[in-house]
Amino acid sequence: NVVLGHGSNDLVGILAEAILESGDEAVMADPSFSLYPLVTKLRGAKPELVPVRDFTHDPHAMLSAVTARTRVMFVCDPNNPTGTAMSRDAWGALLAGLPDDVLLVVDQAYGEYMDERGVDAVPASIARPNTLVLRTMSKIYGLASLRFGYGFGDAQTIELLNRVRLPFNVSRPAAVGAMGALDD
Ligand SMILES: *Cc1c(COP(=O)(O)O)cnc(C)c1O
Repeated sequence: NVVLGHGSNDLVGILAEAILESGDEAVMADPSFSLYPLVTKLRGAKPELVPVRDFTHDPHAMLSAVTARTRVMFVCDPNNPTGTAMSRDAWGALLAGLPDDVLLVVDQAYGEYMDERGVDAVPASIARPNTLVLRTMSKIYGLASLRFGYGFGDAQTIELLNRVRLPFNVSRPAAVGAMGALDD
């Protein structure tokens, strides 16, 4: 249920390569993390940008943007660059309405900064198949230049990502640094 990345940016690229093809669509908030539309367009797929509401993801508008061609929905929580997190009610609405065949990416690069986590990464990713929760050692642990990110998902999603992930994408120094940070 775990995949490791050369930073979690690596995993965003890997999931796009594994899932998105020309003509597919990916739903994301606007503004949100600038990498999502870039990796989507690199695959020849179309980013569907959904304006934030009160600086926060708008679950109803995001669900309205889902079509038969939607393969991925990115939710950056807390959102970069607005710094807002989704409420539990908003999460409930989003999860209730999202079709099962859409990969839900919950990017928690800033998850450790929240008093209360909107989504508990491990149970959430295992409870809904086709969900990938991304974390990184770059932000609260200050290890951005070491490049260590990780993701949680159901076994089938992780297996799909591992088909695309290059071997040795995490270096020994990054792994040692990440373990040291967890012990600290
Ligand atoms: C910083 C950041 C990442 C990942 O950074 P890495 O250094 O590649 O782990 C992912 N998502 C968001 C929203 C970020 O701000």
